Amino acid sequence: MSRIDKFLSYLLGNDKQKFEEVNIDLEVLDEIMEISRESYPNEFVALLQGKIRDSILHIDGLIFLPGETSSEGAVMKVFMLPPMSGSVGSVHSHPGYSNHPSQADYHFFAKNGLFHMIIAEPYTIDSIASFNAFGEKIDFNVI
Ligand SMILES: [Zn+2]
Repeated sequence: MSRIDKFLSYLLGNDKQKFEEVNIDLEVLDEIMEISRESYPNEFVALLQGKIRDSILHIDGLIFLPGETSSEGAVMKVFMLPPMSGSVGSVHSHPGYSNHPSQADYHFFAKNGLFHMIIAEPYTIDSIASFNAFGEKIDFNVI
């Protein structure tokens, strides 16, 4: 990388947002599965807490939002909140068996962080899909 590229990348904050792998604590996943089941048939939504070190995004906690769950699209509620520091992305549940993002989800992903998860029924680790800000599917490791 040339010096000017490095400088630009620094200015745009790209360096801080780069990651090649995602690690998620098992306790965080357990919490997500439990809350999804409790919230059913409503959606639940939370923000993901974590940081990037050595190109690894490590998710180690959830940030809960005021207002609990909603039957009319959890994600829409988050749209109305001010940006929060410490959040690297989001997780929300879908009633039903599709963990495919809706149009509103894609729009939300693009604007609100680096990494997003959708969990569908039956609310297990296998029913979680995860995406980058572009809505492209990416994998995560359970640690
Ligand atoms: Zn959704």
